[in-house]
Amino acid sequence: MSSVKLRGVRKSFGSVEVIKGVDLDIDSKEFVVFVGPSGCGKTTLLRMIAGLEGITTGDLEIGDARMNEVDPSKRGIAMVFQSYALYPHMTVRENMGFALRFARVPKDEIARQVEGAARILALEPLLNRFPKELSGGQRQRVAIGRAIVRQPEVFLFDEPLSNLDAELRVHMRIEIARLHKELKTTIVYVTHDQVEAMTLADKIVVLRDGIIEQVGRPLDLYDDPANQFVAGFIGSPKMNFLSAQVKEVGSGGVTIGLVNEGDASLRMPVAPNGTKVGDTVTLGIRPEHFGDAGQGGADLTVAVDVAEHLGSTSYIYANTTSSEQIIIEREESRSEIGMDQVTVSISAEKAFLFDQNGVRLR
Ligand code: ATP
Repeated sequence: MSSVKLRGVRKSFGSVEVIKGVDLDIDSKEFVVFVGPSGCGKTTLLRMIAGLEGITTGDLEIGDARMNEVDPSKRGIAMVFQSYALYPHMTVRENMGFALRFARVPKDEIARQVEGAARILALEPLLNRFPKELSGGQRQRVAIGRAIVRQPEVFLFDEPLSNLDAELRVHMRIEIARLHKELKTTIVYVTHDQVEAMTLADKIVVLRDGIIEQVGRPLDLYDDPANQFVAGFIGSPKMNFLSAQVKEVGSGGVTIGLVNEGDASLRMPVAPNGTKVGDTVTLGIRPEHFGDAGQGGADLTVAVDVAEHLGSTSYIYANTTSSEQIIIEREESRSEIGMDQVTVSISAEKAFLFDQNGVRLR
């Protein structure tokens, strides 16, 4: 049993509340990723599960037992830190076996565990090296190996890849996904990299300012974000937001016009709850969801600022008439290279709509 439950969890440092009431169920064997902007409380929440921070109010259960006051070493968890935290004077073998030696596990059992973990992580040839003789990726694997030998019910990862270069990050990300498949344990993982979140998670928890904005499967958050914050946070490159105004409200929907974009208008099937003509709203459209001009949506002509051509796709960074910056993703079209204006189309089916408070209307 390795589920984790948080009920009404709050945390204050002095008079400042940083976790403001979190309820969350993490199922056994689930890979759950906490994402959110810097300072939103991801690490604090993880450290509370680990027992490295106290819980001000609320309850924490791991595997159905209340853990609020249980010592970190007795929670059945192992944590992997961003900084690896390896002992420099110990070999890889000694680093990996340290927690077991400390717990007075017999020597041959330690050797068995360490060698098992080394095999999973391809560390066998490195067991007699010291941390300074390893690359960043190898050090991170040792830190993970040190967690594996403890056979925890729950793994906690705190931004484990953020000290690695781009290529290694991708490589280690795949290794961690493989590890989860192989070990079948519960993983709680903190990152601010939403690509990591999308690719690793069974379930993503989006945090903002100490509260949960939305919990869901990666593609559900992408397709069906609860609000403008989640819409802007999930997806890479980010969703574009354009200022618009309600021009007409009817029973079947509302017509909005893009501010300063001539007659670029769009009829959207929104329940007109309280929406009035003249209201300011925000239209959301993902970079990959612009269509070609003249397809019946709202046509928008923008000035190209910078275009990045990657071979199969391009990212066009452009400005609207009212200087709103947008990113357009297009399948590579060589005829567009060097153009200083592009006209794209926004269809009502692909567009999102938010009110002034970021509440999703559609
Ligand atoms: P990042 O992505 O930058 O690591 P985070 O989402 O992990 O951010 P936390 O490290 O959990 O955020 O911090 C949440 C808030 O709590 C921040 O405002 C931070 O300044 C504050 N905080 C964290 N630890 C302490 C502490 N020991 N004392 C006082 N305030 C703290």
